[in-house]
Amino acid sequence: MSNTEIIPKKSPYIMGIDLGTSNSAIAVFLKGQAEIIPIESSKTFPSVFAMRNGEKVVGRQARARQMIDPDNTVSSIKREIGGSWTKEFNDKPGEVYTPTDISAEILLQLVLKAEQEHTVEWGGTPKYAVICIPANFNDTQKTATIEAGKLASLEVLYLLEEPVAAAMAYAMEKERDQTILVYDLGGGTFDVSILQVDSSKGETPEFKILAKEGVPKLGGDDFDYKIMEIAAEKFKNDSGVDILDLKKDQGIKTKWIREAQQKLQEAAETAKCELSESQTATIFIPNLIKDESGNVHNLEMDIARREFNDAISGLIEQSKEAVDKALASAKLGIEDISRIILVGGSTRVPLVKEMLTKMFDKEPYSDTDPDTAVARGAAIFAASLNVPGTEPEERLEKDKIEPIILTNIVTHFLGIETAGGKFNCLIDKGKDIPADAPLTYSKEYTTPRDNITELAIRVYQSDRTVEYLRKEEGVECIGEFFLTGIPSKARGEERINVTFEINQQNLLKVSATSSGSAQDLEIKRS
Ligand code: ADP
Ligand code: MG
Repeated sequence: MSNTEIIPKKSPYIMGIDLGTSNSAIAVFLKGQAEIIPIESSKTFPSVFAMRNGEKVVGRQARARQMIDPDNTVSSIKREIGGSWTKEFNDKPGEVYTPTDISAEILLQLVLKAEQEHTVEWGGTPKYAVICIPANFNDTQKTATIEAGKLASLEVLYLLEEPVAAAMAYAMEKERDQTILVYDLGGGTFDVSILQVDSSKGETPEFKILAKEGVPKLGGDDFDYKIMEIAAEKFKNDSGVDILDLKKDQGIKTKWIREAQQKLQEAAETAKCELSESQTATIFIPNLIKDESGNVHNLEMDIARREFNDAISGLIEQSKEAVDKALASAKLGIEDISRIILVGGSTRVPLVKEMLTKMFDKEPYSDTDPDTAVARGAAIFAASLNVPGTEPEERLEKDKIEPIILTNIVTHFLGIETAGGKFNCLIDKGKDIPADAPLTYSKEYTTPRDNITELAIRVYQSDRTVEYLRKEEGVECIGEFFLTGIPSKARGEERINVTFEINQQNLLKVSATSSGSAQDLEIKRS
């Protein structure tokens, strides 16, 4: 007998996963509705990773390590995904972790724990997933998310934008046809999307994205930091120690200052959440730090909601600007929005609601369960997808729904670099991507110099229309490749054809041809 490997049967169910900056959640569509799968009897799972004595720890246990052993703990890794961040843990030398690796560990544990949850009859090992991503994720961040899924042995069938998922949960569970604005403020990112829901054509509604904007690094973590600044200022006046200053030599071990920062961050977050309910919060941290002369200092102070509101008003204003931008690009006025949906933990901050109520002259809707709306929406969408290679009858009829038609738009201006460092746009931001086929654009260029046989094609994305590719904010090189084998001719004599193809998930494929050669680009991870 040859060695036959026993391959475990795959579950026909597709999981909906919210892989959040702070918290993750997992849901599956069962008996006509999306159900959150509790992990360790909680609806959400902290997206935190730690190394303890060379062993990997994820979730709640990892979050508990944050205070005790911050050097070996990583949180908010989603802020780094697709980037150059790496970490070697003191507790496990010789192994270098990328954000993708850490995200994979979180996914792996999340799914393993969900599989152990006995209320769901998986009918095999859960493998298929729809994973949610912020609407403003670029190609690199998306590719890294898919890669994390692969490392966790998952088959990622779709990357669904978080606000779209939230809108799907709302439209399918509450109220259908309307124009929805989703305001999603989490721990690390802010997204706003405007969607139109229309069920006039079939049983399941069509979802059309009209606009999306965001601020990539804006979230509850920044609110925490504002409180930390206020507290650190007071602490400095009382004790002479500046907890937020790691550069200046204060005669105190850096490690202690870091630990104090960690404690302060936790206390700031707790105070922030308290301020969502009451007008004042008390921060008390005994033995926060020992100064140069060995005196131990406590931190004790009150913070008022008004003071907090003042500190974060600039951040809230940034989110408002993105909302304005989204309305403008959807060519809609405030009165055209029938429903504002709040998603993400940070929308519990009262100033958020106040700002939106004033702006739209109506109360925004908070999901009955804002922490799980994204995962629920993902599970609903997942139920409308087909599982590759599985017999349809394996998934019970009531655990499926008719295909949901989703029309997306292009998230960035996309183009290539041409002579003189110019940006030549092939696809405009905001263009509709049809539901059934990728959007394709081709452009013809000519060779910029005499007798060249190869040409670098650099692909750029931008938030705005720009003429030059200076290192401006919002302009980014997302890939590069060489078209070789170009027949040697005089400048301008040879035609180079460049084609951009973008799919529903805003994933881009680029190809270039000359009369003598052809080349495709897979957008590479940087
Ligand atoms: P993500 O999607 O980025 O994982 P979440 O939607 O889970 O984020 O939101 C996490 C953020 O929400 C954290 O910054 C957390 O402090 C904040 N948060 C949670 N509850 C509250 C509350 N009651 N008041 C204010 N902020 C809160
Ligand atoms: Mg979220």
